[in-house]
Amino acid sequence: MPGMDMAWLPAQVLVFERGWLSSNNVLLLGREDAVLVDTGYCTHAAQTLALVGDALEGRPLHRIVNTHLHSDHCGGNAALQQAYPGLRTSIPAGELAAVRAWDDGALTYASTGQQCPRFLATDGLRPGDTLTMGDLPWEVHGAPGHDPQELMLRQPDHGILISADALWQNGYGVVFPELEGEPGFEDVGRTLDLIERLRPRVIIPGHGGIFTDVEQALARARRRLAHQCADPQAHAWHALKVLLKFKLLEQGRMPSSSLLSWASAMPYAAGLGSRYFEGEPVASLVERALGSLMKSGALRREGQDVIDC
Ligand SMILES: [Zn+2]
Repeated sequence: MPGMDMAWLPAQVLVFERGWLSSNNVLLLGREDAVLVDTGYCTHAAQTLALVGDALEGRPLHRIVNTHLHSDHCGGNAALQQAYPGLRTSIPAGELAAVRAWDDGALTYASTGQQCPRFLATDGLRPGDTLTMGDLPWEVHGAPGHDPQELMLRQPDHGILISADALWQNGYGVVFPELEGEPGFEDVGRTLDLIERLRPRVIIPGHGGIFTDVEQALARARRRLAHQCADPQAHAWHALKVLLKFKLLEQGRMPSSSLLSWASAMPYAAGLGSRYFEGEPVASLVERALGSLMKSGALRREGQDVIDC
């Protein structure tokens, strides 16, 4: 929600801190134009429109920039495109073909069982590009690891880094390529090294509050990465719990049977059993993961239903 510590940011950079279902949104208000970085999850689209509309006070939004195309970062694109006709939508260049064909396998919505209303992309962004947002120049940096196409945005004069899911104050996003048997941990390490070299003064992450203790955050992230490299099964287990918790954040409550059939049909979960858990059937894997989420208080059971806490 707005009202967080913005003292580190110039006045034309507004951060809407959301939660875990919707990524944070950054609204950059220039004299002539307005740009929104990331748009949240689709079930929160009305709230995204309200936050943006209130801040714009009747002015139009000109451009969306997506750091990457996970459903919690671009799920508001379609609603914003409807509300602001002619809106330019810039996405990682490597995703242009998948978006134009709306290939929901390549875009991960099928793999994760998440929703994302179809939207249009007008142009692609590449590492090395520079864009103007809020009358300030921003550099585009590649940040593979959590997602191979992920981008970060850096404003050098103010030392601001929009880090998406490459670095949070306490960790970073699931390393999705690893779940499909593709290497990702090394990319995470290289991206953390890049962040260190960029020496940001303040980081606007994809989730959670903005922060300035960058060195400590990098140290925490590197410890986490060392654990994950040493124990990829633990990373896969964490990823499964993240996907289940995300579904419950989306739904609020679900009958156990629907949750199980949803999870069993989710390609990511099916692959995890054979890749990391000695072929354990997906239903048993999901039951165990739900048990663990209940034990930690992230979910609870009420009769036949599983409920988000
Ligand atoms: Zn993500």
